[in-house]
Amino acid sequence: MPGESLPEKIRVSVGSAIVLGLINGTLDAEPTTVYLLTYRPEKCAANCGFCPQARSSEGRADMLSRVTWPIFLTEQVVSSISSAVKTGSTRRVCIQTLNYPACIDDALSIIKKIRSLVDVPISISCQPLDQQQMERLCEAGVNRVSIPLDAATKEIFNRVKGRLAGGPYTWNTQRKALKTAVQVLGRGRVSTHLIAGLGEREQEIVQMIQWCVDLGVYPGLFSFTPIPGTALGNHPKGSLQSYRRVQLAHYLITQRKTRFEDMKFSSEGLIADFGLSEDEIRIAIETGSPFMTSGCPSCNRPFYNERPGGAIYNYPRQPSSDEIAEIEKQILT
Ligand code: SF4
Repeated sequence: MPGESLPEKIRVSVGSAIVLGLINGTLDAEPTTVYLLTYRPEKCAANCGFCPQARSSEGRADMLSRVTWPIFLTEQVVSSISSAVKTGSTRRVCIQTLNYPACIDDALSIIKKIRSLVDVPISISCQPLDQQQMERLCEAGVNRVSIPLDAATKEIFNRVKGRLAGGPYTWNTQRKALKTAVQVLGRGRVSTHLIAGLGEREQEIVQMIQWCVDLGVYPGLFSFTPIPGTALGNHPKGSLQSYRRVQLAHYLITQRKTRFEDMKFSSEGLIADFGLSEDEIRIAIETGSPFMTSGCPSCNRPFYNERPGGAIYNYPRQPSSDEIAEIEKQILT
């Protein structure tokens, strides 16, 4: 019966595997969500230019973004998740699916198995689904569905993960699936991913953030990270200063403190005014919150977009006052 038989193997992000006690190791920052990736020997059927799992990528098969994801027996992983939730060392489970025919059935059986053992919020990040598939996920107890847009414009979408990239996705289908997800799950239980640094203007990604929020979708912000062997492996990483401005705009819009329409942009599309007073901006910056990883609740994705010891784009924890002072200089100078 589809969605009943548990897949034998699954990938787990290396940080999550350490938190679950599946492997030994030390972490600069512990993930507060367990990150899982459905496993199959072949690569994904899709072909997103930034992803080592992409069909024609020559990137490492055990990587997603710059993180490694070793393979484990699913039974072992599910029981370790149950213990980790009970001890409070994890607050959410996120299942990322490769795109293949049985991926939703595999995800469903994993979700049902976890929920049969422990009560924990589960997110799934997957390709566009139809209404019936989303309803099955809801019945299985999924807490949030994420359908990554990744790109801020239709042109970039087509070039990076759509028709021009040899991918199965279209801009309209992706956005329609987000609308369907909101209808099925409700506002506030649907996420998407937006990657800054794929060639969009700040104005364009801020406008897309506003579109998501108005639809009832929470956009998790990612900073483009070039991965060896991928189609975009030689594409430059976006500037930290620009990312800081986009992070601040993301925070102010998702917190309903400003709107895209109230902001001003330079002729190059750079953020020139957030639509708030300097004091209001300074207060927001000094919380540190705008610069922390954004996504589903408890999703902190440590070092997904940067290496430990390097410049941190998404803080997986509360930034220190020294770090906030540094960020203030990055934004206000
Ligand atoms: S925002 Fe985080 S928890 Fe949510 S689907 Fe994306 S990676 Fe998973």
